[in-house]
Amino acid sequence: MESDYAIIGGGVVGLSVAWGLLKRGRSVTVIDGDDGSFRASRGNFGLVWVQSKGMNQPRYAQWSQQSVKAWRAFSDELRGNTGYDVGLEQNGGYDFHFSEETLAETVRKYETLKAKLNGDYPYEILGHNELRREEPEIGPKVIGAILHHQDGHANPLKLLKALADDVRRLGGRILNDKTVKSVSRTGSFKLECSDGTTVEAAKTVLSAGLGATELGPNMGFKAPIRPQRGQVLITEKLPRIMNRPSLIARQVEEGGVQIGATNEEVGFDDTVTLEGLAGLAETAIETYPVLGKAQLVRSWGALRVLSPDGLPIYQKSTEMPGAYLVTCHSGITLAAAHARFIPEWLEETPDAPDLEVFNEDRFAIA
Ligand SMILES: Cc1cc2nc3c(=O)[nH]c(=O)nc-3n(C[C@H](O)[C@H](O)[C@H](O)COP(=O)(O)OP(=O)(O)OC[C@H]3O[C@@H](n4cnc5c(N)ncnc54)[C@H](O)[C@@H]3O)c2cc1C
Repeated sequence: MESDYAIIGGGVVGLSVAWGLLKRGRSVTVIDGDDGSFRASRGNFGLVWVQSKGMNQPRYAQWSQQSVKAWRAFSDELRGNTGYDVGLEQNGGYDFHFSEETLAETVRKYETLKAKLNGDYPYEILGHNELRREEPEIGPKVIGAILHHQDGHANPLKLLKALADDVRRLGGRILNDKTVKSVSRTGSFKLECSDGTTVEAAKTVLSAGLGATELGPNMGFKAPIRPQRGQVLITEKLPRIMNRPSLIARQVEEGGVQIGATNEEVGFDDTVTLEGLAGLAETAIETYPVLGKAQLVRSWGALRVLSPDGLPIYQKSTEMPGAYLVTCHSGITLAAAHARFIPEWLEETPDAPDLEVFNEDRFAIA
C-alpha cells in the first residue's frame, strides 16, 4: 500500500510533521530505527525556548516565536485527543548571570535583535533583589537575570508519547525497529529497510536526526549535521524551589530538578563523565544553593543534532523531487511549528511559511 508520505525517523521532529500531515488528511507511514540509534528526543532538556535564539538570524528567532505561540493550542489538542498532559508551562524563563559584564553584553545583543523583530522580544532585566523576590532560593553569586516572557518548558517524553499515540489514532502507521537503508525513486519512492521491509510513498521526509548524515547524500542533501553531547542530571523529588526554568535548571512537574546540559564536541559518544556532571552540579548549586543537599537519582548523555550554524535545515531535494530534509537543533521548541506549519510547506499551500533562509544553500561545502 502506497502512502502519501513516508517519514524516516520517529523522533519528535518526524512525529510532529507526521501528525500535521495526518490532520491535513494525508496518509503517512513513519519508519523509526532501533533502540541502538541515537535519539535526542528521549534525552533532552524540555525547554520551549526563545531567548538567545537567532542572534545572527532574526528569522530563526521569529520562527521559534511562531512555534511557542502555537504551542498552547498544540498541547491542548494533544491532551484532548490522547489524555496526555505534556506539562506545558509558559510563564517565562531565565538567563542567569554571574557578572555585570556578561549581563550587559547579552542585553546589548537582545536590543539589537529586538529592533530587528520590530520590538517583539518581551524581556526584562532583574537585578539580584528583584530576582530574589521571584526566586527566593537564588544564590548570592547570581547578580541578576534576563527574564524572557516567551520562554517555558514541557515534558518531552510525554510529548513524544502523545504524538505517537495521536499519529496512530489519526490512522498513521508507525513501523518501529526498522532502519531505512536505501531510498530510490522511480515514479514513487521506495524505501528499503535492513530487515527487508519495503515502504512505498509518493513523497518522503527525511527527519532521522543524526541518521540523516548517512541517508541524506543519497537523496540529494548535504545534511551537514553533527552530534554534540549534552549531559543531564536529575535530582530526587523536591518541594517547589523554582518558579521558572532556565538554561541551568528546571523543576519538572513531579518535583525533580533537571540540571543541564553540557555542550561537548565528542563525536558519536553519548556516555556521561564525572567531570561533565560535576561541572553541571557546581553551576546549579551556585545558582540554587539548596540543591547542595539534594540527592541525584539519574544522569544521562544524549547527542544534539546540530547544523554548522545551529539553525534548522528545511530543504527540498532537487535530485529527488518529492524528498524533503527536516532537521533542527530545538525540536521540542519547534514541535508546534513542525506540526502546524511544515505540512503547509510540504504541501506548497498559499499558507506555506517562508523557509528560504533555512535551506542548505547557506552551507558552501557539504
Ligand atoms: C542534551 C540535550 C538537550 C536538549 N534540550 C533541548 C531543549 O531544551 N529544547 C529543545 O527544543 N530541544 C532540545 N534539544 C534538542 C532536541 O532534543 C532535538 O532537536 C530533537 O529531539 C531532534 O529530534 P529528531 O526527531 O530530529 O531526532 P531524534 O530524536 O534523534 O530521532 C531521530 C530518529 O530517527 C531514527 N532513525 C535514524 N536513522 C534512521 C534510519 N536510517 N531509518 C529509520 N529511522 C532512523 C532514530 O531511530 C531516531 O528515533 C536537546 C537535545 C539534547 C541532546
